[in-house]
Amino acid sequence: MATNRTFTMIKPDAVADGHTGAIIKMIEEAGFRIVAIKKTLLTGERAGQFYAVHSERPFYQGLCDYMSSGAIVPMILEKENAVADFRKLIGATNPAQAEEGTIRKLYAKSIESNAIHGSDSDENAAIEGSFFFAATEEY
Ligand code: ATP
Ligand code: MG
Repeated sequence: MATNRTFTMIKPDAVADGHTGAIIKMIEEAGFRIVAIKKTLLTGERAGQFYAVHSERPFYQGLCDYMSSGAIVPMILEKENAVADFRKLIGATNPAQAEEGTIRKLYAKSIESNAIHGSDSDENAAIEGSFFFAATEEY
């Protein structure tokens, strides 16, 4: 069932480079309502849990090191068709392939340091949201 919610994190490179405000502005202007937001740090272990689905991939250790290298800004977002529309707004994983005007085209540095995360399904959006936030149903 579509929940109309998705989960995102502004990743360490974009936070460190001072792009948090610009990225949040793009998200709100695209029609997403911010349900929950905070600034926090992931330990390497927590980053590993978050990206456990990639644990067999060659880039896993680098991904965990990168995701725990600095502050991140996780958010739960709400909009009709949130998961698919948000993936469109952020663009392709590799910024070299991201469409013009997408968040990754504007702010990602590489396929690894790619500025922002977006859930890939309603089910994962709910799991990932509860990884960072307790009970947000009535926010
Ligand atoms: P995310 O899940 O962060 O929104 P995505 O769904 O576009 O990104 P995934 O395939 O889920 O891409 O990969 C998760 C993250 O792992 C990527 O966002 C990127 O930071 C990193 N990553 C993916 N592929 C590579 C790769 N080939 N080399 C290095 N890092 C990679
Ligand atoms: Mg993914």
